[in-house]
Amino acid sequence: MLFLLTACIPAQSASIPASSTRIAPTSIVTPTKQTTRETAVPPTHPKPTATLESSQSEAQQLVRTAVPQHTSALVARFNFPAEDGLYHLPLAGEMNVDWIISNYVDHDREAYQSTDYNHGNLTYDGHTGTDFLLRDLAQMDEGVSVLAARAGHVIDLYESANDREWIGTESNFITVEHADGSVATYQHLRQHSAEVAIGDRVKVGQPIALVGNSGNSGNPHLHFEVRSANGRLIDIFHEGLTAFNYPYPAKPYVFQAGVSRLSDPAIHNDLFRYTPETVTRLPMTASPTFWYKAVNVQSKDRLRSILVYPDGSEEELFTLQASQSTSVISWYIYVNPLPVGWYSVWYFFNDDTANSKHLSFQVVP
Ligand SMILES: [Zn+2]
Repeated sequence: MLFLLTACIPAQSASIPASSTRIAPTSIVTPTKQTTRETAVPPTHPKPTATLESSQSEAQQLVRTAVPQHTSALVARFNFPAEDGLYHLPLAGEMNVDWIISNYVDHDREAYQSTDYNHGNLTYDGHTGTDFLLRDLAQMDEGVSVLAARAGHVIDLYESANDREWIGTESNFITVEHADGSVATYQHLRQHSAEVAIGDRVKVGQPIALVGNSGNSGNPHLHFEVRSANGRLIDIFHEGLTAFNYPYPAKPYVFQAGVSRLSDPAIHNDLFRYTPETVTRLPMTASPTFWYKAVNVQSKDRLRSILVYPDGSEEELFTLQASQSTSVISWYIYVNPLPVGWYSVWYFFNDDTANSKHLSFQVVP
């Protein structure tokens, strides 16, 4: 079943049209070709514990974890600090800069349908956790720490699986049990990155491993999953159990964008796996290539990109109207070599220029 789901993702992504509208025919820029490069994060995750089917039907139930109460002041004084039962960020870095949430728990019980806790599309059918997606493999190689989201002790661990396959058969994971019997599983970890052992006690925020790409994972990300003591799936966002502020992205936004050389091999690969090198200077002989990665694109959303010439004139590079909602999408377009001068390029959704991405580059002789 997991592999069938995997096969579905590219097909869905491909339905997003690569239509382009040119509105400045007087411009000397001639887009010669455009190509879609779209990536949805593949479904995940062999589970070390409860089955997906049994858990998903219970995903919408209110599951608030009980916090043990200390009855003795002496016990409280010498025990670990009382737990608030909340979950802190399970990885290092800054949200929307170093990583994004690409998928939440699926709350829809119907087959082939999915809805996140906010009635949005940032999930896929049967997804049982929250996915924190890195920018690319290079960032994974630099090392992004997985942090204990809540205090507890390590009850299960595996770290020998390869972490660079597109879809691997084994996933590295760490499972932490909390004081109330609930468990959190950190999936797809980098190979041999565990900093804890089974039986270890962990504190909130303690680095326990590195984010990886092992198991049923196409792009480097952390799948973070919480279950109650009796195995019921808990969506920490739906249940208000997050100790951090992560506002749901109500609008689509451009996570990353850049100007690169068409000859950069990353351009022709998966942009959520390999990020092209962004350049600020290009020779006249090069074909400037514009790319972006965007998040939370709904079917009604329209992405535009405008190129501004040295003389201030503008040309619309492309307009994309999504035909289908998708959690993450990437795309690129290249144009013929440009005359010498300074240029800028803008990417924005739905004419919301206040939330645009903006880059400048120079064409040199
Ligand atoms: Zn996941």
